[in-house]
Amino acid sequence: MKGRTAIVTGGSRGIGRAICIELAKGGANLVINFAGNQQAAEETAALCKAQGVSAVTVQGDVAEAKTCETVVNTALETFGRVDILVNNAGVTRDNLLMRMSEEDFDAVIRTNLRGGFLMMKAASRQMMKQRYGRIVNLSSVVGLSGNAGQVNYAASKAGVIGMTKSFAKEVASRGITVNALAPGFIETDMTAKMPEAAVSAVSASIPAGRMGTPKDVAAAAAFLASEKAAYVTGQVLAVDGGMY
Ligand code: NDP
Repeated sequence: MKGRTAIVTGGSRGIGRAICIELAKGGANLVINFAGNQQAAEETAALCKAQGVSAVTVQGDVAEAKTCETVVNTALETFGRVDILVNNAGVTRDNLLMRMSEEDFDAVIRTNLRGGFLMMKAASRQMMKQRYGRIVNLSSVVGLSGNAGQVNYAASKAGVIGMTKSFAKEVASRGITVNALAPGFIETDMTAKMPEAAVSAVSASIPAGRMGTPKDVAAAAAFLASEKAAYVTGQVLAVDGGMY
């Protein structure tokens, strides 16, 4: 990945940060998007730079087309290319369907699904010109299995899979691959919000006998983002310790 330019949305924390570091280790320069946590984003950038690459941060909501244009323009102005896009930014607003507000449904679809759509639209124009691109979209095991209390989130993550498979077919002839990752239960701020009883119950159902780490997901993302994955497209790779 030496000399490649990678955009990672939601790169300030958790899985996004681990992906940034893994791509930096491979030699890619980073454009790190985040929603509001500037300090965490700068920390990620510093960790990437420690690997000997360049890294810049861009604040903004990925569900706004303007943000996506700014992120891509920053990559072009700073590094001259866009080779890798990792659509990682994501949120949860869990509740049972009967109690779920329209706002909570829309907010999750907006960030997790519309955000990825807008970023792919903005970045793929340049990838088409280059006749090279690697897009990795973060879905979830929940998008495959469903999960009580996550109708909005599961719908968004199932949507990511449909979007990934469709766009993969549209751009395969241009040297652009589009794949999805379906992580299982990963130790981040997102899962730290869950009640302890729920964490124990889910952990007990993981054949690998442990929760995943952001590094587990980052290793899979780095493969899909590499030149070596040229003939892999439209796929969903589960990184879940055998959970699903
Ligand atoms: P975290 O909650 O730890 O981090 C979320 C990241 O997304 C932060 O960097 C946050 O920025 C950013 N973000 C949130 N909303 C927006 C937005 N509208 N625009 C731009 N950036 C935004 O999440 P995880 O690391 O746990 O999850 C990362 C991805 O992996 C998500 O898509 C999630 O759905 C998926 N996933 C996670 C699993 C898990 O078990 N943790 C399992 C399966 C999938 P800021 O720091 O500024 O708030």
